[in-house]
Amino acid sequence: MKKLYVNKEACIGCGVCVATDPEHFDFGDDGFSEVISQDNIDTENVKIAMSSCPTNAINYAEGAEDEEDACAGCDKKECCHHNEEDDLEIDSDFNPSESAA
Ligand code: SF4
Repeated sequence: MKKLYVNKEACIGCGVCVATDPEHFDFGDDGFSEVISQDNIDTENVKIAMSSCPTNAINYAEGAEDEEDACAGCDKKECCHHNEEDDLEIDSDFNPSESAA
């Protein structure tokens, strides 16, 4: 199955795709574009957005069975597939001088 995805590693957040095809693209909390719908991904607007992207960040993932397969593997912390359980817990109240014995 074909999926539409935005490679967030390549996206510069210019907004061309969001303006061209708001049915399929929107800005995420990170300020970069993301795909918001996998319905009717062969429309002219998707193709225009894809060809208009200055960094070629928009692509189809051929053969992707699920979102994980369609992932571009950008390795960003904000990634939709990032596993928060893998993060180290950061204690914002930690004071190194208090822990020194
Ligand atoms: S057109 Fe390309 S670079 Fe610009 S916001 Fe969309 S995906 Fe990102």
